[in-house]
Amino acid sequence: MAVISAAATVNPPDAVRPCRKAPNKMDDVYCIGHRRVARRSLISIPKATALGRRYAERIDRSSKILKDPVITEYVNRVEQNIAENSDAKIPVTVGVIQSPQINAMTLPGGFIFVNTGLLQAVNNEAELAAVLAHETGHVACRHAVANMTRRDLLQYATIPLLFIPMSYPVYLGITQGLNFAVPLAFLKYSRDEEHEADFLGVQYLWKAGYDPNAFLGVFSKIIQRERSAPGSVPSIFMDHPPTKARIISIEQEIKNLLPRRKDYLVSTSDFHRVQERLDNILNRENQVQLAANKNKPTLIRREPKTAKVNGPVQQPENDKPPILGKPPKSSS
Ligand SMILES: [Zn+2]
Repeated sequence: MAVISAAATVNPPDAVRPCRKAPNKMDDVYCIGHRRVARRSLISIPKATALGRRYAERIDRSSKILKDPVITEYVNRVEQNIAENSDAKIPVTVGVIQSPQINAMTLPGGFIFVNTGLLQAVNNEAELAAVLAHETGHVACRHAVANMTRRDLLQYATIPLLFIPMSYPVYLGITQGLNFAVPLAFLKYSRDEEHEADFLGVQYLWKAGYDPNAFLGVFSKIIQRERSAPGSVPSIFMDHPPTKARIISIEQEIKNLLPRRKDYLVSTSDFHRVQERLDNILNRENQVQLAANKNKPTLIRREPKTAKVNGPVQQPENDKPPILGKPPKSSS
C-alpha cells in the first residue's frame, strides 16, 4: 500500500471535547469514535472482510481500475482523515474505478470504490471528502452485511467472479465500468440506511475539519447532472436519490448539531493537482484509443446476395459474385 503522507487537514482543537453522556450518543459529535453505531449482523467482522476482499481483489485486477499511485494515494489520504474521525472500527481503503459515471460503492469489510467520474465532478476536496464520509458511514454501520444471512454469505462467497452472470437473479448488479457482478446487497441500501450514512457522514466531515456544507454541494451536483443528462447517474445511485427530505435533514443537522467553527477546510492545492493529473491521464488514454481506432483496418463485409428464385443457386466461385441459376426452360 502507498505510504500515507501527512494528512491534508489538522484536526482542530474545538472538535475534541470530553464525551458527555448524551441520551442518544449518535447526536453527540464529541463522542465520535466511542459510539456503537454498527447494526447487528450474523456475519462476523473477519468473515465480512474476507468476503469484501474477494470482490475488491477482483476489481483491483480488472483493467478498469486506475493504477496511478499519486491519485490513489491522495484519495486514500483524504479517506484516512475521515476514517480517523469516524466510528468505523476497521481499516478503510479506497480504490478508483475508471468510469465516467458519478458513483461510489462500499463493499463489506471497509473496501470503498469511487469512480473517476466522481473525482472529476467534485469542485473541491471537501466535496470529495463528503462522498467518502457518506461511504464511511455505511462502513461504520456495517450496512453491507446488516441483513445478510449465513446462506447469503455462502452464496456470495461461491459465485464465480469471472463471467457476467446475466442469468443470475436480481440480487446481483452488474457494476458500472466493470464486466462482472457485485451482489446488489453491497450496492443498494435502504432509505433508512442512506439517511443514517448521511447523518453520520456529515458529522465525520465536520470532525475531520471540512466544511459540512460540502455535502449539500455534492447533492446539488448529482441533481443537476441527472436533470441535464437523464441516465448519466447510475440507477443504483439514483434509487435513493438526494431527495428534498435528505437535503432538509442535513441542513438541520448542520444548524442544530454541529458546533460552529471559525475555519473550515474547503480545498487544497493537492486536490487541484490531482484533478489536473487525472484529466491528463484520461485525455492521453482517449487519444491513444482514437489513434488505435484510426489505424485499425476496416473490414467491409460483402453482403450475401440472395434472390427469391425457384431454381438452384450456384455456389460463388472465388471472388466472383454468385451467379443465380434460372429455372430450366421447357424444350417444346
Ligand atoms: Zn449510500
